[in-house]
Amino acid sequence: MQKTISALKDLSNNLWWSWDTEAKQIFEDLSPLLWERNNHNPVELLRHISNEELAARCQCELGERILNVHSRFQDYLNSKETWALKDAPELTKNPVAYFSAEFGIHESVRIYSGGLGVLAGDHIKSASDLGINFIGITLFYKEGYFRQYLNEDGWQMEDYPLQYAESLPIEKVTGPDGKDLVISVNIAQSEVFAQAWKLKVGRATLYLLDTNIPANESHYRDICCRVYGGDQNMRINQEIVLGIGGAKLLDSLGVKPAVYHMNEGHSAFLTLELLAGELAAGKKKEEAMEAVKKRCVFTTHTPVPAGHDRFSRDMMHYTFDKYLSKTGMDFEDLMLLGSEDPKNTQGLFTMTVLSLNLSRAANGVSKLHGEVSREMWQHLFPGKKIEEVPIGHITNGVHAPSWGCGYTDSFWKKFTEDLEAMTLSREAAEEALAKVSDEELWSLRYTLKRNLMDFIHRYIDNQLFHQHSPSRSNEYDAMRSEKNTLSPDILTIGFARRFATYKRAPMIFSDLERLNRIINNPKMPMQIIFAGKAHPHDDAGKDFIRQIVQHSRRPEFTGRVIFLENYNLGVAKRMVSGVDIWLNNPVRPMEASGTSGEKTVLHGGLNFSVLDGWWPEAYNGENGWSIGNGEIFDNHEEQDRFDAEQIYSVLENQILPTFYERNEHNIPTRWIKKIRNAIATIAPEYNTHRMVRDYATKYYLTGGGK
Ligand SMILES: *Cc1c(COP(=O)(O)O)cnc(C)c1O
Repeated sequence: MQKTISALKDLSNNLWWSWDTEAKQIFEDLSPLLWERNNHNPVELLRHISNEELAARCQCELGERILNVHSRFQDYLNSKETWALKDAPELTKNPVAYFSAEFGIHESVRIYSGGLGVLAGDHIKSASDLGINFIGITLFYKEGYFRQYLNEDGWQMEDYPLQYAESLPIEKVTGPDGKDLVISVNIAQSEVFAQAWKLKVGRATLYLLDTNIPANESHYRDICCRVYGGDQNMRINQEIVLGIGGAKLLDSLGVKPAVYHMNEGHSAFLTLELLAGELAAGKKKEEAMEAVKKRCVFTTHTPVPAGHDRFSRDMMHYTFDKYLSKTGMDFEDLMLLGSEDPKNTQGLFTMTVLSLNLSRAANGVSKLHGEVSREMWQHLFPGKKIEEVPIGHITNGVHAPSWGCGYTDSFWKKFTEDLEAMTLSREAAEEALAKVSDEELWSLRYTLKRNLMDFIHRYIDNQLFHQHSPSRSNEYDAMRSEKNTLSPDILTIGFARRFATYKRAPMIFSDLERLNRIINNPKMPMQIIFAGKAHPHDDAGKDFIRQIVQHSRRPEFTGRVIFLENYNLGVAKRMVSGVDIWLNNPVRPMEASGTSGEKTVLHGGLNFSVLDGWWPEAYNGENGWSIGNGEIFDNHEEQDRFDAEQIYSVLENQILPTFYERNEHNIPTRWIKKIRNAIATIAPEYNTHRMVRDYATKYYLTGGGK
């Protein structure tokens, strides 16, 4: 019995379980209530269940399931048949070190804010699946990103529940002497210490640096408090711990990365630490820079100039003073590395410029974003034409096994090996699809939608109950009334993402009359589910949330427009599996890639999106719908009007009629054909296995794609 219990604990200590349906199911079956209450956290769940109970319950079938899953887990860890061993054996030797300010691996590990983190999480999982020797580096945020709730007005409120190491599958890293491994970095005149933790993600390891230790003065302890929290000063401090601290950590572990991959510019100070090392080894300045360049690659994610991290010269001077004197680097040389104009180092220090200057290759995250980035940074490469600017692209994907759900998983297992098999090639997906009848696909859709509706009703109950405000009791009653129940018969639209204003969340409310006619059309009704957080400093984003919440309270929209609080990975998984249409209406070309729409495909969801990010590459006229044809207006209002008009007219004339058109067996055959097209064309391409293989072959093993 002890063996079964320790197998269970073993499973809880590696996030591999988070993309294995059976492993997840075991934890849930132990106690559905505790599972739900503890944010699907196995470590926390097991803290609540006694060994007596476990011993008793593991006697029978549950024990067998645990041992089976555990043995699959062991096979996974020890497999000698990985993609990397076969096709990229170099990458099974020295590790890829992947630096990211956030990792979204599972909702129970709150060290992420949004899409960038989810991408990093999906990247590390695929790297593990593919057998690449892979290390992630990030910070351990004691408070994570905030938990969102709404006040009576619909205004976003934030609270910051603490997360404790004991409740997470992390352990302290110890040095060769057996003591806790602590590294230090210089910030201004101080030495700031960071304890290292590690988190196992399949075969990969994620290291987390933590300044919240007694050795630090209290204001430095807070560096690892919140994801993207605080002011510019906090930001630069976090980035020093991440970049310089991360590089030092790898050094003290004796790890010699094959390549350093900077996921966005936040970690770019790591290049300074590498530079200091090369200089200390006796290289001249130019040689040292060349040597650092050879070791680093960089992925940029931000097509908007204002979105890039920039620090003032004064702040750089103040913060790096001691570091520079210790490493013998010159302040003007440092400023030069981060200045947009090499003739003027008096301006701002830009992290993206540092990253581009000190990496051997760089990429954007979709074809369109690659083009935008080349244009945006052309001035850094004097004499080069736009198309010669050395920034390529690798389009983002999603980790299919993570974005499946129990039901979708078992559905596809009837027709092919597993969910992952659907992503291997277009042929593989088409072969499986050929075995599925329209009736089966339609029943999949209905089941997933019913699951989502049930989830939302439970969630809303909770959400309104917690607010417990007398002035909202009408809303509460309205939501619970029979006539306002969400229905799986109704075309359901999902919109969920960070509430950055360029994503224009309230766009569909531009014309309330018209929306009312669409939503309440008795023959072809529609319902919309929203979710998303605005950054705590972003009042314009919060105002968008308030607008939507207030619209959702209008009598004509009650029960048909829902805002779910506290968007996170768990809510995302529910939404992408249940909705019919995933709506995305950013201002083109500001969405570097976007990934949420890719998550819906294997569940039979369809995308309806502006031709931005990944969508122009994927959209072929048959596998979803586009909002416009990529038109760009100089005038914002004109753009908004145009895009909103497109949304309404495509809904009215194409999406709704196609959904409600049924054959004699009540099956929407044209709709299902779209689903088939979407699965065949999108699933095999827009996944992180393809994406990480591209990084491996174009960036990790060689000089770079461009
Ligand atoms: C996928 C995901 C995102 C990214 O969504 P985009 O629409 O690509 O911006 C953000 N947050 C969560 C929780 C996600 O799961």
